[in-house]
Amino acid sequence: MQVFHTIDELKIKLAEYTILDKTIGFVPTMGALHDGHVSLINFSKKQCDITVCSIFVNPTQFNNSEDLARYPKTPENDILLLTHAGCDFLYMPTVDDIYPPDFNRTFHFGYLETILEGASRAGHFNGVGQVVSILLEGIKPHKAFFGSKDYQQVMIVKTLVKQLNLPVEIVSCPILREPDGLAMSSRNMRLTAQERKVAALIPKFLNEVKGMIKPSGIDEAKKWMKHQIESEPLMTFDYFEVCDATSLHELKEYDETVSTVLLIAVFVGKIRLIDNLIIS
Ligand code: AMP
Repeated sequence: MQVFHTIDELKIKLAEYTILDKTIGFVPTMGALHDGHVSLINFSKKQCDITVCSIFVNPTQFNNSEDLARYPKTPENDILLLTHAGCDFLYMPTVDDIYPPDFNRTFHFGYLETILEGASRAGHFNGVGQVVSILLEGIKPHKAFFGSKDYQQVMIVKTLVKQLNLPVEIVSCPILREPDGLAMSSRNMRLTAQERKVAALIPKFLNEVKGMIKPSGIDEAKKWMKHQIESEPLMTFDYFEVCDATSLHELKEYDETVSTVLLIAVFVGKIRLIDNLIIS
């Protein structure tokens, strides 16, 4: 695997492949890689001739400076993991290589940026739009692979691609979980042993509440979830919503003919974790 630190050098390399009509798959990440990221590399390798991964902790998508400063960084391990996974090229830019000094692009995603992660993390999706647009415009992949763990982010990126009319297919990939059900996340490595145990309650509660929605209704299910989280001393409730899986509009009544997704954000200690479950 070749590692690039500037987009100009990476572009020159990729031109060697596009001229031969090879397809390029792209997996953007913030590093501290785990098997969830590797699963995206595997999807790309199956569907494309060349796979490019990026590692960039994008400052503009963090609304909390402590979260940014403490975001885990494991570059040596990341390179080993990607090499082992058969990734072809890794782009590890500096902030200056991504953002030119006069950069001031702003994105608006309407309703989608006002709810859930957008409501809890002011400016987050504008930051996602900034970095993803720059990466997609620079690398020009045929396909880009995103994890449905960040359910709302996939919808934002699809909207972005439409807004900018970019010739790339956004592929949404399934959530990889630890054996106890916890969704894999770079942030999990910041949990203490005790917090890590408690974090496994998130997928457990999601699966339990799933069985409750049809007989008891959405309001009761939401109350139950909030109560479960608030009863755990190490957890702090952020949100739990039951939404239409295609629009993310909040649902008031359950209808099994409507594709439905449960979305949750919880602090375990100081670490904010998200998860989701499609129930119909
Ligand atoms: P991140 O490095 O956390 O920004 O994530 C980079 C990409 O990996 C995003 O598209 C995430 O949705 C995806 N991802 C993160 N965790 C998982 C997981 N557990 N399963 C599948 N994809 C994931």
